[in-house]
Amino acid sequence: MAQRFRALLDLCKRRGFLYQSAEIYGGLRGAYDYGPLGVELKKNILNSWWRRHVYFRDDVVGLDTSIITPHPVLKASGHVDEFTDLLVDCTLTKERFRPDKAPPLTFIADKENKSGHIPLTAPDKATAVAWQKLIQEQLAPGILMTLKNNQLLLQVQALTQPDEQGQGGMIAFATESGQPFNVNYHGYVEPDSNSPFLTDSRPFNLMFKTFLDPIDPIDRVIQTTKNHSPDNSLPLREAVDEVLRPSTVYLRPETAQGVFINFEQVVRTMKTKPPFGIAQVGKSFRNEIRLEHGIFRTPEFEQLELEYFVAPWESRHWYNYWRRQRYQWWMELASHPDNFRQRDHSANEMAHYATGCTDVEYLFPWGWGEVEGVAHRGNYDLTQHMNNSNANFEVIEDTPTISADVDGDVSMIPEERPARYVPHVVESSCGLNRAMLAFLCDAFHEVRDDSGKNKPPRTVLKLHPRLAPIKCAVMPLTGKPEFMSITQKVAKSLRRHGWYTVVESQKLKIGKRYYRHDEIGTPWCITVDYQSLEDHTVTIRDRDTGDQERVHWKEVQHVVAKRLMEGEADDLLD
Ligand code: ATP
Repeated sequence: MAQRFRALLDLCKRRGFLYQSAEIYGGLRGAYDYGPLGVELKKNILNSWWRRHVYFRDDVVGLDTSIITPHPVLKASGHVDEFTDLLVDCTLTKERFRPDKAPPLTFIADKENKSGHIPLTAPDKATAVAWQKLIQEQLAPGILMTLKNNQLLLQVQALTQPDEQGQGGMIAFATESGQPFNVNYHGYVEPDSNSPFLTDSRPFNLMFKTFLDPIDPIDRVIQTTKNHSPDNSLPLREAVDEVLRPSTVYLRPETAQGVFINFEQVVRTMKTKPPFGIAQVGKSFRNEIRLEHGIFRTPEFEQLELEYFVAPWESRHWYNYWRRQRYQWWMELASHPDNFRQRDHSANEMAHYATGCTDVEYLFPWGWGEVEGVAHRGNYDLTQHMNNSNANFEVIEDTPTISADVDGDVSMIPEERPARYVPHVVESSCGLNRAMLAFLCDAFHEVRDDSGKNKPPRTVLKLHPRLAPIKCAVMPLTGKPEFMSITQKVAKSLRRHGWYTVVESQKLKIGKRYYRHDEIGTPWCITVDYQSLEDHTVTIRDRDTGDQERVHWKEVQHVVAKRLMEGEADDLLD
């Protein structure tokens, strides 16, 4: 599995999907640049999402709000105080990680006994030796352990598992003196090494803070520090925060807050009322504790977010509706639908104001991972912004009704007319970069060579045609002018539709040219051959079946248009 993922990342780099950012300067961890094909794939995912949720409906409009967000917005939304993850440091490996994403201890028990050993895996033997020294001298002096290449085996006398809250767990290490050396165990270890030598967890705010001010804020920090004395009413840290507050801004950690604070403007300017939605696509930033799996978790990423505003008594209905809708989108584009699933959150996983949350997950090579969350957020966000600004987000409804087919909540309908209420919101929040990674993993397909010549497998990227970066590659059999003339005519007819079309006229065998395009997911190769010169027909080769169809060159655009549209949002448009 890991090998396949490496092969995919190698393909992404080799064929221009993804590059390490600032590679010529040694690269920046967690930062990626999208190459010519990556940018197309990302744009096609975005377009598919936008078409389904904005253009194919009459109840959703778009918005594009500022990334730089002032302090009061994110204070009111709760992000300043609560957008935190727990962070743990490993005192052995110096790695930082999130305990909620970390695995439990790998413990090899001696028969049915509670004693046994804990294997620690170092990247290499030299590191294992250094770890052994650190454990012996500082972390757990006197404990018994053996070194085997890059592995350290720590002898355990007894292991007590923690309770559901992660309390009460204990590892009693065996020592030379016979007196056990105890280490707390909260139910997780450092993910890469299996190390149980950890600090306590502490909250860490994920937002990137900066200052919108022509004057260097450091000067004000220095000045405040110099002037601060023990008699000050505020402790130094708070005094510094206070002086910086007027110019404090954040890079938004989600696009949603920009939608909420513009709610009233959109209602007024578009003359709309619930149920309706606002879609926004854009960058978000999180100072993640642990960056992992290429573009799966990065500090800078893009979100496709839809906030759908509804009357409280219809919110349950719309939550269920959007759960289905969103899954339908994934299913429409998936090559292996079995590798996607929906997972409902348990009550303790949800934000305190949410009454429902479902993740869409994909089975990545390292296990199931969230690609999207659909949440019923109640009226928390709009109420918070109303309470902290002069805005009034109440809407008026004369005749609140729930039709027979709606699984709404009749008990929530107010008796008084007209009914005034703060809308509830159902949110779907999908990571564009994660979606790209999921679709790439989903499409990655290796074809073994059956010629008996022991050739390595070749790759076919079975991306949905609507997602494929290049839609058509037009290939003249030779570069002679008579072939090029039809080739250019076909290419132009396709480009007029806005489909990324390339001409492949190099002196490579046609089969090799097909394979190069299979590798990057091009669904159709159009070949201009000798027959084309006689009757103006060309062949269209299908990436997945290898079948070829001969049509007049003017027909190619119609064939491609029909196939590209196949199955798109049929449920909405029929
Ligand atoms: P996780 O538990 O993986 O950190 P989350 O529950 O914090 O994700 P949400 O706040 O629900 O994520 O964000 C919505 C979507 O945004 C996620 O489903 C994911 O696709 C994407 N996303 C969130 N954080 C990142 C990140 N650091 N890098 C890439 N995509 C991200």
